[in-house]
Formats: sequence, structure tokens, C-alpha cells
Amino acid sequence: MPPSSAHGVRTPWSWRIGSIAGIPIRVHVTLLLLLGWFAASFWMSGIGPRATAAGLIILVAVFVIIVAHELSHALMARRFGVATRDILLLPIGGIASLERIPERPGQELAIALVGPVVNLVLAAILYAIVAGAGLPTDPANARGVGEAVLSQLIWINVVLAVFNLLPAFPMDGGRVLRSVLAMWTSRERATEIATAAGKIIAVGLGAIGVFTNLWLVVIAFVVWMGASRERDMVRIRSSLAGVPASEVMSRRAVVVDASETAGVAASRMVDSGIGVLPVVEHGRLVGAVTREDIAAALRTAGPELEVGEAPRHEVVRVAPGTTLDRILDELSTSPEAIAVVVDGEQAVGLVTPEQLMAYVALHPAPDRTATV
Ligand SMILES: [Zn+2]
Repeated sequence: MPPSSAHGVRTPWSWRIGSIAGIPIRVHVTLLLLLGWFAASFWMSGIGPRATAAGLIILVAVFVIIVAHELSHALMARRFGVATRDILLLPIGGIASLERIPERPGQELAIALVGPVVNLVLAAILYAIVAGAGLPTDPANARGVGEAVLSQLIWINVVLAVFNLLPAFPMDGGRVLRSVLAMWTSRERATEIATAAGKIIAVGLGAIGVFTNLWLVVIAFVVWMGASRERDMVRIRSSLAGVPASEVMSRRAVVVDASETAGVAASRMVDSGIGVLPVVEHGRLVGAVTREDIAAALRTAGPELEVGEAPRHEVVRVAPGTTLDRILDELSTSPEAIAVVVDGEQAVGLVTPEQLMAYVALHPAPDRTATV
């Protein structure tokens, strides 16, 4: 389904099943439950082991097709220098978590379009193979399980392509619409229009789903939430764009050396009133400890434990001139990391997510409808 930018939420209840081209593929537990439920219901319906096997082959094939679709988004994004954290498979489809969505409309358009194009190409190849072999391309005319599977896969690819092109975030069609509009108006305005279209489609899908298929209601809900989140993210990013870290950073950085003890770090936190201390080792910044890290160290090992042995967070190094939207991107990619403002190797301040959100709340995005 959608390429989505990662907003720092690790998905619980999902397992990595492998990786392709260096991109981890994860499966959510609900998908495994769904496959099990389908297998059980095929079996219980008395359609026999061959038809049950055919049903499961189609389901697994659908998810292979979805992986190919998501992978195409990820590999196109890679061409534009955008990494993908992982591909997550859910009952409603797949999500490729790109570290960011490129702001250039042409790049977003290419990333969004390639997924449905992959489905259409797969449909065309399957059609050519099936028709070329003289087999029926209409599942209704299939004789036997193999023919039924092949002919259904053609149409499943067509349906996936069309469905994903619905102009609604987080469907690919929503990104196609936004990027095409963004060629004529500002990205914020384009997003407003595309999210409004997405919400109308979500309501329509939901209404149809109530009378036909409850699965559509679930998808409508996801589309509604995706539309709202996309608009919020664009507003947040546009408030933060171009603003240097020095504008919001806390200017006091109290550091702790890796060779000092957890007890020393604890009293330094209490004295300074600062809950996060950058950790240095031989003069180099190597991480940061939070109150929770030090509390855990005190609880498990006592105050004599060296800070270097205590749990700690990785840091994102930023310069005073680094812009806040860049910092947001970095923190989205590594949600556990702490942004430390450095001057050379010396920590001179911190930028926390709370500071970013405070800045956004106090500086709402200007309505730039005229920019190109
Ligand atoms: Zn897609």
C-alpha cells in the first residue's frame, strides 16, 4: 500500500522474517493470525485439502506481490538518497517506512507511482504466460486448482494497482495527487487538498464497507488517520524548516565522563536540574544518559558502576546551524537517539523533541500558498 515516512514508532508485535536488498521485512502478528484463520476456515468449510492448499498459495502469493510492491517504493526512494527502515506486512497490506518523503514533487511522484506500476507489470506478465499457454484468464473458466490460482493472481494484481491509486493518503494515489498538485501550488496547499480528498474517500469506503465488507471499514479508518497524520507532519515540518538549532537549543550541556560513576552522574543531574547528560570518553562524545538510564544502573549495579558500563542512548550530532526539520528527520529515523548540539567534539547543548513541539506550537506554519 503506502510508502510512509517513519515517525519514530517501533512496531511491537512484529517479527523480522528476512531482508531483501538490505531492507528488513517484518510480519505483524495479526497477519499470521489472519493466515491461520483463513487456513482453518478453508479446512472447516469442507472444500478439501487441494482447495485449501490453493487458497493458502494465493494468500502467500498475495503477500509476495505486496513485498514486491513495497520493495519497489523502497528501491525508488533509495535512488533519491532516502533509506527505508523496514517493510511491515499487515493484514491490510504492506507499509514501507521511508526515513522521509522527498519534498521534490517529481521524486515523490516516482516513488508513489512505481508500486502500482509493479502490480500492472506483474498482471501483464502473468496474463501473457497464462494466455500464451492457452489457459483461461477468467477464474470462472478455470479447470482445476492450478488454473484457478494463476488466473486469480492476474486480477489480484489489477485490483491492487487500482485500489492503491485511490487518491487518498496513505494510499499511493494520495501521494500521486499531492505531488502533482505540488507542481502547481505549495506543498502545504497540495497536502491540504489531498488530505481533504482522502477523508472524503475514507467516508465513502467506510459507508460502502458497512454494507458489503467490514475489511473496507478498517481500511477507511486507516485512510482517515493517515490523511490527518500526513497533514500534521507537513505542517510541523514547514514550521521547522530553515530554523537553526541555536534558536531552540538549551544552552547548558552538563557532560559526564564514561569513567565517572553512576552516583556522580546522578548527583550532577540533581544539581543541574538537567535530565540528560552527554557522555564523553577520552574527550569524544560517545552517547548520552537519561534519568531512566542512571536509575536503571543504580538499581541493578549500584552507584559505583562506571557510566561507560551503564545503559545509554545513542546521539545525533547536530551543529548550532543545523535546521530543525533536519533534526526532526534524524530523530524520526532513530527514535531513541538524543540530539546533542556539538561544536567540534564539545557538547554545547541539547535539542529535545519537547523543544521542537514547543517551537511548532508557538510558530504555526505560515500559509504560503504562492510559493513554488
Ligand atoms: Zn504502494
